Parts: sequence; structure tokens; C-alpha cells
Amino acid sequence: MSSSLLVDSHGRVLRDLRVSVTDRCNFRCLYCLPETEAAQNFYRGRWATLPTSKPIAWEWQPKSKILTFEEIERVVRIAVGLGIQKIRLTGGEPLLRHHLEDLVARLARLPGITDLAMTTNGFLFAEKGPALRAAGLRRISFSLDSLDRANFQKITGRDGLAEVLAGIRLAGELGLNPVKVNAVIIRGINDHEIEALAGFAHTHGLALRFIEFMPLDSAHAWQKELVVPGTEILQRLLAVHPLQPVVSANAAETARRWTFADGRGELGLISPVSEPFCGHCNRLRLTADGKLRTCLFSVTEHDLRGRLRSAATDVDLAAYLQAVVWGKEARHHIGEPEFAQPARSMSCIGG
Ligand code: SAM
Ligand code: SF4
Repeated sequence: MSSSLLVDSHGRVLRDLRVSVTDRCNFRCLYCLPETEAAQNFYRGRWATLPTSKPIAWEWQPKSKILTFEEIERVVRIAVGLGIQKIRLTGGEPLLRHHLEDLVARLARLPGITDLAMTTNGFLFAEKGPALRAAGLRRISFSLDSLDRANFQKITGRDGLAEVLAGIRLAGELGLNPVKVNAVIIRGINDHEIEALAGFAHTHGLALRFIEFMPLDSAHAWQKELVVPGTEILQRLLAVHPLQPVVSANAAETARRWTFADGRGELGLISPVSEPFCGHCNRLRLTADGKLRTCLFSVTEHDLRGRLRSAATDVDLAAYLQAVVWGKEARHHIGEPEFAQPARSMSCIGG
């Protein structure tokens, strides 16, 4: 194995870098930032009191701690030199970052990136999408957990379904391909919408991913009982649609995928809780405040920002990236007694 790659001590070669561009968000999804009354009521209704009485341990990072576009571009350039091929911009809500298209343009110019994508809640996409596309964004994933206006608001804390649907439509018109949609399914919240969401993907030719609820919410209110396992979702989908499995050549793929009989649209199941795929994980994460994370569930973060703002050369930074990646966790421990939920929520980690 070449020493110029990002290789971990378990033999995995990292190819995918997720870059969070802000920890801020204009939504309050109850599986991520459950601060709304609806979220509190949902969790309280289940356990009388929330599982933890700890105050929610997060606050927005000051601007001085957030990486600049120059700093992000430098990290990405170095990471691409070490074999990273896919870059996904995320957050928090990436569309809240001013002039995001300038960052996209910088990254789109870097040779070696085969895939430049973004994950967004889509609320601001109608406003910002055309400039992002023109700047070189190639693919996009929207989060859409409900097709019902009231349920959408209950889940996200925002009456924004119409805006998100308009964003998804526009992404197709702009030629972003494929347009992906992520739905986190939570028992008792939106599991009754599984078939409707699948139908929506079929009608509109979208690639829909059903994602299991993971213990990454800021209130630490996650419970296994709220997870709808991928196998259960699949059984329900197969009862409605004659789906064909997709055989993927990409071993690092996190989704098990199916196509509809007429070939329009696609469904996928991402089941990190019930069927972990850690053995093939090839991802590294950079938080908005410049910390490296080798796993979604890492309890340790590695400070890159301090090094970026010191006299470190590109060679020093590359060596640091390699050293950090070497220590990537073998797997997560959800459901095991020793599992400890990371202090920061998905919005801070960058999903
Ligand atoms: N704000 C953007 C969005 O919602 O798409 C990007 C950041 S968000 C943290 C990235 C992805 O993480 C979204 O698809 C969201 O649904 C997912 N996510 C957040 N919290 C999660 C959790 N506790 N379990 C599973 N997925 C989660
Ligand atoms: Fe929801 Fe994404 Fe915001 Fe988290 S970061 S609250 S998932 S929109």
C-alpha cells in the first residue's frame, strides 16, 4: 500500500471527506437539535421526563473558530493529494454559509476530485441553487422526512415543506444528477409515511435513502425502540413495489439499493444501527471549527485548526492527517454497554 494514502490501522483506505461549513442551522430536527416544544413533547410523552436532565451541551461556535474558505480549500487540496476523491459539503445547514458558491468554485477547480456534493435541508435552495450549480456543484442530497406539512413542521421545527419541495424540483431542473433525498425514520413520528415517501421518489425519479435514527441528537434522547430497522422498512416497501436489488461495484457504499420495475427512481436503506457497515467505512470528517473526526461516533476530535493557523507546512499537515487516520476506530459500539454518545450532535459533527 502506498504511504501517500490515508490508510488506517485496519487496512481501510479513506476516499471520502465530509466538510462541515457551519454548525448553525435554520431547522431544529427532533433527531438532531430537539429544542422545539414538539420535540420535547414527543420525548416526554415516551419517558415522562427526557432521558437526560443535562442541559443541551452546545452553542454556536464564534466566527473566529470557523474555518475560512482558504483554510478549507487547503485541507481539501492536501487530502486529495492523499487519495481523497469525494467531497461532500454539509453542516449544520450549509446554505446558511455566506457565499458558499465561492467555496464550491474553489473546490471544483481542484484536480482529483471525482465527486463534489452537498447535503442540505433545502429550505434556502431555491435562492442559492443556481449559483451553486454554476460554481460546479455536481450532486445534492436533500433531507425530507415527511410529505405532510404539519408532520414536517413537527419534525423540523419549521413550516418549510413547500420550500423544500420547490428546492428538490429546482435541483432536477438544474441538472444535478442524481437528486438524492434522505429520510430519517423514527417510530411513532414518520414511520407511517414510508410508503408515501417511496411513492414520491418513484413519481419524481429521485434516489431516496431511508436512514435509521442514530444516537447523535443533542438532547441524548435517542432510544433503540425509536429505530425502525432497515429490514422492517424493506418488507413494507416490497409489499407495495416489486423492487429489483442493485448490485453495486462500490464496496464502501453505505446504502443497500433497489430500483423500481420501470427503472424510474431508486430506494436505498442505510442501516448503521441494525446492520453496521464500519468494515467498509472510508470516510473522514472535518467539522466547521476545524476538528478531524474519524468516525461519526468518535468521542475524540483532532485539532487541525490550530495546526492550520500555526507555521505548519502542507507536508506537516499531510503527516498529521495520516497519523489521525491511522487511529480510525474499527467500528461503533451502539447498543453495547460501553457505548458513549458523542458530546456534540450531528449538526456540529457534519452528517
Ligand atoms: N442540515 C443538512 C441536512 O439536514 O440535510 C445537512 C446536515 S445534517 C446533520 C446531515 C444528515 O444527517 C441529514 O440527512 C440528517 O437527516 C441526518 N441526521 C441528523 N441527525 C441524525 C440522527 N440522529 N440519525 C440519523 N441521521 C441524522
Ligand atoms: Fe435538521 Fe440538518 Fe439542521 Fe440537523 S443540521 S437540525 S438534520 S436540518
